[in-house]
Amino acid sequence: MFERFLGGKTAIVTGSNSGIGLGVARQLARAGADIVLNSFTDRPEDHQLAQNLAEEHGVTVRYVKADMSKGDECRALIQQAGRCDILVNNAGIQHVAPIPDFPIEKWDSIIAINLTSAFHTTAAALPMMRAAGWGRVINIASAHGLTASAFKSAYVAAKHGIVGFTKVTALETAREQITCNAICPGYVLTPLVEAQIPDSMKEYNMTRDEVIRNVMLERQPSKEFATVEQMGDTAVFLCSDAAAQITGTTISVDGGWTAL
Ligand code: NAD
Repeated sequence: MFERFLGGKTAIVTGSNSGIGLGVARQLARAGADIVLNSFTDRPEDHQLAQNLAEEHGVTVRYVKADMSKGDECRALIQQAGRCDILVNNAGIQHVAPIPDFPIEKWDSIIAINLTSAFHTTAAALPMMRAAGWGRVINIASAHGLTASAFKSAYVAAKHGIVGFTKVTALETAREQITCNAICPGYVLTPLVEAQIPDSMKEYNMTRDEVIRNVMLERQPSKEFATVEQMGDTAVFLCSDAAAQITGTTISVDGGWTAL
């Protein structure tokens, strides 16, 4: 249905050498968009990923190293791309600990990467979208942008923050052909989620299977992980004309989590 309608557009996806970011980049490329992949590393496999994606979908794909914990690098990523029709703020990290034990440097980096980076990239991208007369800002928030879990104070604060920032961006662009929305995934089995399993096993004194079944998917009434392809297709939909009047809102892709 959406085949290649994004030809001629450039999409920048932060934190896209893995997980949801890569899944979103892949679906946008499939819809014809040129892609800028990003992370903070600069390994041969990062550039190989870009080459493979380009060959798979017949679009231009570049990999640009930029650390989303640093404001100047966030802005430089957008400037280096030279064009930004679609901005997907996806880079994110997690840390699980009770508030009194929560390491201060973890709090600071979660707020910087999961929230403040979107302010910097959006600030740099909006003038480009305005010049082009069209734009889409898609923030990858979380079910934790709408609800909370114990031991995830920084993450929940950052994700609630990005939902608020989404609304402000939408209001500031409401009279232009620019929209801004947040996708709120439930649990998607990506490296970020894999990394939480050992901490949760410790916190809850459970086995891996028990954490998956009783902690993660316990909140997800469908009892299934959502997929990176579903996140990508939701982003593609938000870029379509059908979504031109959808702005300033959240779209949950969470198997019913936030209906509870
Ligand atoms: P992931 O660990 O697979 O991917 C995170 C990406 O961010 C990676 O590409 C990583 O390299 C990048 N990144 C991390 N720190 C960075 C930095 N300083 N600069 C640039 N890039 C950086 O995790 P994921 O699950 O794909 O998460 C992607 C986004 O989706 C995050 O914002 C996360 O909060 C959100 N999310 C994930 C889930 C889930 O269940 N997986 C659920 C809700 C929301």
